[in-house]
Amino acid sequence: MEITSLTVHETQALLRSKQVSPQEVVEALGRRIAEVDPVIHGYLSYDLDRAILEAQDVDVRLPLGGVPISLKDVINVKGHPCGCASRILQGYISPYDATVVAKLRAAGAIPFGRVNMDEFAMGSSTENSAFGPTRNPWDATRIPGGSSGGSAAVVAADEAYAALGSDTGGSIRQPAALCGCVGLKPTYGRVSRFGLVAFASSLDQIGPLTKDVRDAAILLNIIAGPDPCDSTSVNEPVPDFTVDLEKGVKGLKVGLPKEYFIEGLDPQVETTVRAAIAHLEGLGAEVVDISLPHTEHALSAYYIIAPAEASANLARFDGVRYGFRAKDVSGLLDHYGKTRGEGFGAEVKRRVILGTYVLSSGYYDAYYLRAQKVRTLIRRDFATAFEKVDAIVCPTSPTPAFKLGERTGDPLSMYLADIFTLAANMAGICGISIPCGFVEEEGKQLPVGLQILGKELKESKVLQVAYAYEQSTVWHQAKPQIG
Ligand code: GLN
Repeated sequence: MEITSLTVHETQALLRSKQVSPQEVVEALGRRIAEVDPVIHGYLSYDLDRAILEAQDVDVRLPLGGVPISLKDVINVKGHPCGCASRILQGYISPYDATVVAKLRAAGAIPFGRVNMDEFAMGSSTENSAFGPTRNPWDATRIPGGSSGGSAAVVAADEAYAALGSDTGGSIRQPAALCGCVGLKPTYGRVSRFGLVAFASSLDQIGPLTKDVRDAAILLNIIAGPDPCDSTSVNEPVPDFTVDLEKGVKGLKVGLPKEYFIEGLDPQVETTVRAAIAHLEGLGAEVVDISLPHTEHALSAYYIIAPAEASANLARFDGVRYGFRAKDVSGLLDHYGKTRGEGFGAEVKRRVILGTYVLSSGYYDAYYLRAQKVRTLIRRDFATAFEKVDAIVCPTSPTPAFKLGERTGDPLSMYLADIFTLAANMAGICGISIPCGFVEEEGKQLPVGLQILGKELKESKVLQVAYAYEQSTVWHQAKPQIG
């Protein structure tokens, strides 16, 4: 068996007992990428020689000592490119490490490669990358989800031991579900965003994509915690997220929100998710019917708030100090217009225009302010629900992976891919997606994700439920046949 098929904790155990060397771990990764990435296109770039060099200096006794961790192209790593899968950041090399990267290094990990994504994390299929889409390891004619589609695909295809992604409206959980891996969105503020290129600052959060739940807990242990460089990081103690893993679900109450089992939910996905919830019940959890009454307004409110924040955050990309700069311009305004016009892709421009519109005077109250009020209602829905239950269980995505190109002409149908994930970002709570079975489409097995949502700062609870499910099922062990 190749080392690359192992989890982070399995790889670390081999490293620590000196059954493999850090160089071998990196070299095996290089071989696997050469073998499968021509099909998957998960990596935008990577520097194998540099990683092998860095492997010589690692201390394998550290928690992640010698394990390469792949990074979404939105997280800064000193001396590496950080392009957000956009033309506008062409040639940009990060002058500093994101806090999560500094923490990974301190834990002995080797930051590895730049993985593909939707441009500036806007999208649900990775088709908005300026450098071509990533493909789903289970069926290369399908999308891997997005926007952290590269992160999910490289983990599922065993061309990464684990990866970090970012989740603004579902971008860790949805691709994890569609690729059959684990994706954890921590509570808003649990993980520092210093060095994460901002999309929508009141929603963005960094989190791990991994092969199993234990790895998600281990990585969260490393990256979580307050950071003086990010004033939105929460100043709360960080527990050891592995401690509660084995506690089981007996006596826990899990809520089944009726608004998440609606028209538009693929019947095969529904059957699979309901079976997973019945399985949790069989393990001793008490399933309680709940209601999150404002769910139906989450999507429209999100698509006002997220673009509004994006329009402000993306104003800095003007080609003046770094990145792409248009040629043949006459004057400053022409420079801005051409640089941003040629540098940004269609979806990013759509968001900037939408965001500028909803913030403009006369429309601000009608759109932005109302969306913020809806956000408060959604937040209250969850607060009320968590008075009754320990966790909420529902589908991560309404459908399995769809075909490449199927939704690119219809932004609204693309936005619907996140209908079950974005409310968690609006409320700031935490959530995970774990593999819970397969559906068959055109003779191919496609993974389905179970989403488990938890109250603010209750990642331990979410991981506890996820682990109990995972360890009593086989889905996380399934591997795709690539090619
Ligand atoms: N698909 C959603 C969007 O395009 C969510 C993206 C994300 O979580 N980064 O806004």
